[in-house]
Amino acid sequence: MTALYFLAGRAKQVEGDSGHRLVMGTFVRVVAVAADSIIADKAIEGALAEIENVDKLMSDYKSDSEISQVNREGFARAVKVSRPTYEVLQRSIEFSKLTGGAFDITVGPLVDLWRSAKKKSAVPSEEELAAAKAKVGFEKVILDDQKQTVRFAVEGMRLDLGAIGKGYAVDKAIEAAQRAGALGAMVDLGGHIRCFGKPARGRKKWLIGLQDPKAVKNPEFQAPGLSESGILLTLKLTEQAVATSGDYQQFVLIEGRRYSHIINRRTGISAGGLSSVTIIADSATDADALATAVSVMGAEKGLALIETIPGTEAILITSQPEYKLVKTMGAEKYVK
Ligand code: ADP
Ligand code: MG
Repeated sequence: MTALYFLAGRAKQVEGDSGHRLVMGTFVRVVAVAADSIIADKAIEGALAEIENVDKLMSDYKSDSEISQVNREGFARAVKVSRPTYEVLQRSIEFSKLTGGAFDITVGPLVDLWRSAKKKSAVPSEEELAAAKAKVGFEKVILDDQKQTVRFAVEGMRLDLGAIGKGYAVDKAIEAAQRAGALGAMVDLGGHIRCFGKPARGRKKWLIGLQDPKAVKNPEFQAPGLSESGILLTLKLTEQAVATSGDYQQFVLIEGRRYSHIINRRTGISAGGLSSVTIIADSATDADALATAVSVMGAEKGLALIETIPGTEAILITSQPEYKLVKTMGAEKYVK
C-alpha cells in the first residue's frame, strides 16, 4: 500500500506515503520518513491504527462507541470509559474553562436541532432553541477521576467530540509513528495536521498549504488534492500541529442565510464573523479545539486569547466579501 521514494543522494532514507484513505468522515494521509521501508510501513500502519481506534471509541456516528454509550446512559448512571476517552473529556472541559464556554462538547442537542433545521429548511423556533440550550453546558458533565466515569446532570444531554476528536487522533498517530522508529512523519486528517522530525523530500521544513476560502467552489464535495489549486499561503513547520475551522467548507443555507456548523452555546446559533481560523500549536488536540473556540469568540477576543498561550499562533480570514487576513504577532515566522 505504501509508495516508497528513495531520496537522491540519501541511500539510507526512504519515504512512505499512505495516500488518501477515508476515515472519521474525512480523508487521512500519513507520510513517514525512515531508515528503511519496513520502518516506514510500520509507522504508517501504526498511525492509521491509532486513528481507527480513536474513531471506534469516540465517534457519535457509531452506536457501539464509548461516547454513544455515554450519550445513551450518562443520565441514568455514571459510565466508565477508557483512558483515551477520559483524557479527551478532561481536555475538553479544560478548553471550555479556558475559552469561557466558546468551546463546549455538550453542544450535541443544538447540533441536532440545526441538523433537523437543515432537513426542514426552516430555522428552529425560540422554544426549540431554549429547550436545547437547557441540555447544553460543560458544567453539567460530572467526571470522576478516580473511577474514570462520566455522568450527566441533565437528561437529554449529548456529547459531540467533532471539534477535538480528529486533533486527538492525529496526536496519537504521530506518537505511533515515533514509537515505530520513524525519523519524521506528517499526519493530515481532514486538515488537522501534525508533523515531527525529518521532513519529506529532503526539505528543511514540512510545508503545509492553507486553503484559500475564496477558492472553495463546491464545499459539499471537497476532494483531496483540490487544495493544490487554491492555496492561500504555505506554512513551514518543524514540530508543530495546525488545524483550521470555519464556515467556508461546512455550512448550511436556510432561507438564504448561511449558518456555520460551529455553534455558540450562548445564543444557540452558529458562530459568524470568520471565514476560517487556523491555529498553530504544539499538539493537534490544542489546534483543533482552539480553532473552533476562536471561530465562536470572533477575531478580537480570539486573537487576544491566542496571544496569551505560549507557542500558539492564529491566522484568521474574516467573512466574505472582505476576506481580510489577520494574524497573531508570532504567526509570520511560520509563513513561507
Ligand atoms: P471540523 O469538523 O471541520 O474540524 P471543527 O473542528 O470546528 O470543524 O468542529 C466542528 C464540529 O464540532 C461541529 O460539526 C460540531 O459537531 C462540533 N461543535 C460545534 N460547535 C462547537 C463548539 N462551540 N464547541 C465544541 N464543539 C462544537
Ligand atoms: Mg476540527
